[in-house]
Amino acid sequence: KPEPDLALVVREIAEEMQARSDRGDVAGYIPELARVDPNAFGMVVIAADGQIAAGGDSEQPFSIQSVSKVFTLTLALGKVGDRLWRRVGREPSGTAFNSIVQLERENGVPRNPFINAGALAVTDVILSGHQPREALGEILRFMRFLADDVSIVIDEGVAGSEQRTGFRNAALANYMRSFGVIENPVDFTLGVYFHHCAIAMSCRQLAMAGRFLAHGGRNPETGHNVVTPERARRINALMLTCGHYDGSGEFAYRVGLPGKSGVGGGILAVAPGKASIAVWSPGLDASGNSHLGRIALEALTRRMGWSIFGA
Ligand code: GLU
Repeated sequence: KPEPDLALVVREIAEEMQARSDRGDVAGYIPELARVDPNAFGMVVIAADGQIAAGGDSEQPFSIQSVSKVFTLTLALGKVGDRLWRRVGREPSGTAFNSIVQLERENGVPRNPFINAGALAVTDVILSGHQPREALGEILRFMRFLADDVSIVIDEGVAGSEQRTGFRNAALANYMRSFGVIENPVDFTLGVYFHHCAIAMSCRQLAMAGRFLAHGGRNPETGHNVVTPERARRINALMLTCGHYDGSGEFAYRVGLPGKSGVGGGILAVAPGKASIAVWSPGLDASGNSHLGRIALEALTRRMGWSIFGA
């Protein structure tokens, strides 16, 4: 059976998504995100040979939010290696992205690096030994390097908006600080966290940045080894099991790819050996994951036969 035409499949999916009326609700708890147009939809797939298939608003920057947690995890592992796992676990949480309940049972150690508590602990690791400005610069430089694009910036409006209203994240950080899981002044850790969540990228830039995860840790275009094959495999495993909060099981069931969502409506997904994929639609489902983004990815893996669990 011949491989379906990727460019055609992506264009078709974008048209199908743009025609739908079910979109979910944009994240209301971050005032700046509540203003985003819910009708936006974009998708970019970068295949192993470098082919770029794009549909919809693929060049429009959006707030990557928790998708940034994949990249901060990569940086923190690069900095402290497996010692990171003393500060954060590797199990799916089964609770909401901003849940606090489990921290009490487990001595302030968050379940995984992708729920907010875990991501705050990861950011704290990157921050240690640096000023907040330096840590943030390191994260932004890493994104620009991976996407091969120096135009990527932080949306200060979104960062400020979250800084003023992020009481729940402040509670998580303070709670973990009381157990010593967070080491730096809580305001510093929160500041770096809100700012890396507020990085704005387009689907194209995000798909570019994710290529190393699809190709054993190596950027196939530049030949740069970003991480070892083993580390890329492990990050993908965490994305599969924990990348969509308490919707991770459903995402694996329907899409069958490692993926990380953000409340800005973006999802980065990885088809190992085949493609890096970014999709964006700001309306969210009940678990805080992009509603149409998930549906589009489900259509893509079905039509391309890309689920890691078989066609
Ligand atoms: N900055 C968001 C928060 O901390 C990230 C949540 C998300 O994207 O899921 O609430």
